[in-house]
Amino acid sequence: MDKACPFCGEEKADHGIRASAPNVSYVKCSVCGEFEYSPRMVSKLTDEQRSKIRVLLQIRKLRGLGRICLLDTVPLKTKGLCFDPVDKVSFLSNWPSGSRFVDEVLLNLSFLYPAPGKTFKFETDAANGHIRPWAYALYDPDVNRAQLSSIRMFCEAGLLHPDGSHYLITDQGWKRIEALRGDESSTAFVAMWFDDSLDAFKCEVKKAVALAGYRAECLTVDEVEHNDYIMDKVISLINDARFVIADFTCVPESQDKDGSVKGGSRGGVYFEAGYAKGRGKDVILTCRNDDDSKNRRHFDIQQINTIFWEEKDGELKASGQPFVEILKNRIVASVGEGPLNRDL
Ligand SMILES: [Zn+2]
Repeated sequence: MDKACPFCGEEKADHGIRASAPNVSYVKCSVCGEFEYSPRMVSKLTDEQRSKIRVLLQIRKLRGLGRICLLDTVPLKTKGLCFDPVDKVSFLSNWPSGSRFVDEVLLNLSFLYPAPGKTFKFETDAANGHIRPWAYALYDPDVNRAQLSSIRMFCEAGLLHPDGSHYLITDQGWKRIEALRGDESSTAFVAMWFDDSLDAFKCEVKKAVALAGYRAECLTVDEVEHNDYIMDKVISLINDARFVIADFTCVPESQDKDGSVKGGSRGGVYFEAGYAKGRGKDVILTCRNDDDSKNRRHFDIQQINTIFWEEKDGELKASGQPFVEILKNRIVASVGEGPLNRDL
């Protein structure tokens, strides 16, 4: 079904509703990417919030990040959603401020113009009237406003070099980009089953990661788990991540019509945690506090300090405390406060 994209207005966006989640709409937009959203939430947004969400969606598309489902608030049970649920307040908090603005713009530019030494132009318009890469590179939802002062600021800081009407990312700029993608990475990779029963856990993990000053990236690898592209993506997300959270919860086993077994222990989590460890990353282990999950953990990881969590009275707890707090404290103790907290 064709219907305009609710954020950029692109008219040829592919629109649909899944039978499993009738309250959210699915969109595949050539400008903003693929996402799900609650039409009720969108109807309550201010113009500014709507513009910011559009820019943030476009940046996710640019950086190849996972597909999300935008909701007003994320309920503990989010059965039927295929994409990663996120509430609008958390999503809008990705809007950069202070020194983070400069870093985030540089990162966007490095994705837009990945070849070092090549010049580019800050185009003010594009043929189809929608794509103005410089606009989301500069996080300006108002595409008609010239961002010359920001560009000048980048030149003065030695990160961009003007070359006539074109610009170039300087060596200093690339060094900063490398640092942002490497040691000072602001992302955490979450290795876990993508199963409806773990949606509440996934939301709480993201909250804890955000409180510690990092950004959580999970890939929805449920449908395409063994696809080469996805494995490349997983490897690159782990390489870019500051640390990894690996959850060893087992989900009930079931057999598909074609005889393949679903559920049980997830081999991918062992692979991702092992790969991250081999790359010298910190890996924080979690597991649901149920006998099946605990007993099925491989001997090799049973000795490692693990946060056991459980759902009690609609809340996620670990050793009787809020799980979010426990996990956030563990992150800060293991890898320190994240770069996203430094401006606060
Ligand atoms: Zn769009």
